[in-house]
Amino acid sequence: MEELLIFGHQNPDTDSICSTLAYQEIKNQMGIETKACRIGAISEETQYVLDYLKLEAPVLIADVESKNVILVDHNEFQQSANQIEKANIIEVIDHHRINNFHTENAIYMNIQPVGCTATILYEIALVNNIEITKKLAILLLSALVSDSLLFKSPTYTKKDEAVVKKLVKLIDFDIYEYGLELLKAGTKFDKFSAREIINIDTKEFTIDKGKLEVAQVNTVNIDEFLEKYEKNIIKEISNKINESSLALHVLLVTDIVNNNSLALVNGSISDYFGNSLNVKIVDNKVFLPGVVSRKKQVVPFL
Ligand code: MG
Ligand code: MG
Ligand code: MG
Repeated sequence: MEELLIFGHQNPDTDSICSTLAYQEIKNQMGIETKACRIGAISEETQYVLDYLKLEAPVLIADVESKNVILVDHNEFQQSANQIEKANIIEVIDHHRINNFHTENAIYMNIQPVGCTATILYEIALVNNIEITKKLAILLLSALVSDSLLFKSPTYTKKDEAVVKKLVKLIDFDIYEYGLELLKAGTKFDKFSAREIINIDTKEFTIDKGKLEVAQVNTVNIDEFLEKYEKNIIKEISNKINESSLALHVLLVTDIVNNNSLALVNGSISDYFGNSLNVKIVDNKVFLPGVVSRKKQVVPFL
């Protein structure tokens, strides 16, 4: 049989990478050979998981024309690999809205309104009598910690919680200690240029007013982050707006300790962002108390 690739979205986050590796393991136990892939760089947060489990990163691929593929943690073509419209999509396992999605043939889709792809994979593993090894459990838990900011995001559902409880019990694991280290690893940006920082976790959307990008970075201290990076980041944001003809660029700087975000809002329709979220932007900035989820607390209003 032809190669079957699994991969998550562009600018892959920990869920995209860990769910790719976890699903490969599940498929492997089912006797189906797959190739774990990625379409972007590994973040420091995700690297923490790979180091912990002593795993290689999935293989970086450029385009997927005429390949057999399984999409995890995304379905929008805009967030997928180059030439995705010419790929043969076999499956989608995701927890995001469905947008502009179409295929030639019927496919297996498992999309659920839960906080993390890993939750759906756990269910698939159960149904198929897959042995939950320690490696598999930690891959799933890492994705769950990351997507829920250690279980504090409003995206975190009862179903996610039940999966976490089962996995933690199964492998007798201190998830809070591990989870905090994991999230903290993702707040180190010393190795990154300003451009890389704004691209670590960014998603592009198109609305009738134009193209927009909502990026997010995690920090343990918003003020320190700004002191260190704001000047160069603002420069890069304005470059990116010009290069990519963006109507709006939002960078959410999210405080993972106190669960708030500061949004840096730039672009010709900045006012639209302020009006949509009913907040007042001052000097291209607005503090958003209690906001940690781009998916649930920002994007739906745009
Ligand atoms: Mg993701
Ligand atoms: Mg996810
Ligand atoms: Mg995320």
